[in-house]
Amino acid sequence: MTSNCLFCKIINKEIPAEFIYENENSLVFKDINPVAPTHLLVIPKKHFSSLKDLDSISSSQIIQCIQELTSKLGITDFRSVFNTGAKAGQSVFHVHAHVIAGRELDWPPG
Ligand code: 5GP
Ligand code: ZN
Repeated sequence: MTSNCLFCKIINKEIPAEFIYENENSLVFKDINPVAPTHLLVIPKKHFSSLKDLDSISSSQIIQCIQELTSKLGITDFRSVFNTGAKAGQSVFHVHAHVIAGRELDWPPG
């Protein structure tokens, strides 16, 4: 727990969120400002600031959670994104994967 971290507060239920899925290591909830019909955030329960700080076990646990989540929801086509660093659009410094689906997605992103 990092005391001033928004997503740690969501993990600790100090701030409400719409939880979608959970396993031993990871938590999934709806993004408050969705950019597609499905826009979920997958986070480790342990605090890491960004993808740069993730160890290999935590990295694979997040990927595994994305696999479980999309299987459970029957999502076959989706985009998973880790924005890393403010210039790349990271605004919350608790690592998270966006899982975006439910419409045609353009490439490249802006
Ligand atoms: P980033 O910009 O760091 O890649 O992604 C952070 C995401 O967190 C954004 O898409 C933003 O909409 C979402 N977000 C910010 N504050 C909250 C919140 O309080 N609750 C939820 N559920 N999502 C949030
Ligand atoms: Zn945190």
